[in-house]
Amino acid sequence: MKVTIEWKYSGAIFDAHTHIGHEGLSNMIDIEEKFGIRKQIGIIHTPEALEKAKSKYPEKFVFAKYLPTSETIRYNVSKLLDEIANLSQEGFSLVKMWFGPRWRDYVEHANNHFRLDNMKLDPFFNKIEQDQIPLIIHVGDPDTYFQTVYSDASVYGTKKENLIQLENVLTRHPTLKLQIAHFGSQPEIHRLENLSSWMKRFPNIVLDTASSRWMARELSKNVDAARSFIIEYSDRILFGTDVGTNRGKRDYYEGRYVAQRLLWETDVRDEPLPFIDKDTEDSGGTFINGLDLPLEVLENIYWNNAHRFYDI
Ligand SMILES: [Zn+2]
Repeated sequence: MKVTIEWKYSGAIFDAHTHIGHEGLSNMIDIEEKFGIRKQIGIIHTPEALEKAKSKYPEKFVFAKYLPTSETIRYNVSKLLDEIANLSQEGFSLVKMWFGPRWRDYVEHANNHFRLDNMKLDPFFNKIEQDQIPLIIHVGDPDTYFQTVYSDASVYGTKKENLIQLENVLTRHPTLKLQIAHFGSQPEIHRLENLSSWMKRFPNIVLDTASSRWMARELSKNVDAARSFIIEYSDRILFGTDVGTNRGKRDYYEGRYVAQRLLWETDVRDEPLPFIDKDTEDSGGTFINGLDLPLEVLENIYWNNAHRFYDI
């Protein structure tokens, strides 16, 4: 793996999308230090994880509370309001919600007719909008999933139908403070136009670049289009990886960091992704074409934007 590259950017990095359990935390932090990750949003998965991260690494984290998908899809608004009632006393700065369409495969007695834009959820969205509680939200998934695991649109909906539900929430709550994960689930080149219209209509939203393979696979397909999108919205895109504690050793983390740094900072062409992309494993693999972003854009994406958006 290319660890001897001299990167264009040499400053500290803020990772705006990481998952924190209580096992594997110190391993993660040790490796992050070697790759310049100085601060991060930690999405907390167990109470022990919060305690451990708070006490051992007090300066490192901005904590996000994971709101249970199983309650949201039942429109259990009182539970959601309970979850956010003591947010800051518990040590959290924001919340995270996840609606990958495959929640239907995990949640028992799932409400298959759930819609994120159902009016029943409005009291919750009103509250976080009013209190300006930031939310990281994941809606949809890669186009590749919709061609394979979600091919039954009668169960999972089309990708467009999934995205429209979030768009409707944004339209009704125009001042929600939202970090939309995974480039708004729209890093595919043919979706950048729609994403750009969201960015124009909803000036309060920011995007993260979580999932190194998804970003590298799709944004590499048209360097000019990807580069001009990122430069246009360079004050509203946050570096993020989606790495999690206990998911792997050094190679796991290194692969994700190197993939994104090659993508953002260099002009490499047809460079193989430094780890396996399951979505292209059987069709030739994923290759990176670097966007060679200007240094001031990198400074924003890697550090400044997260500090400005989260006021830290
Ligand atoms: Zn994630």
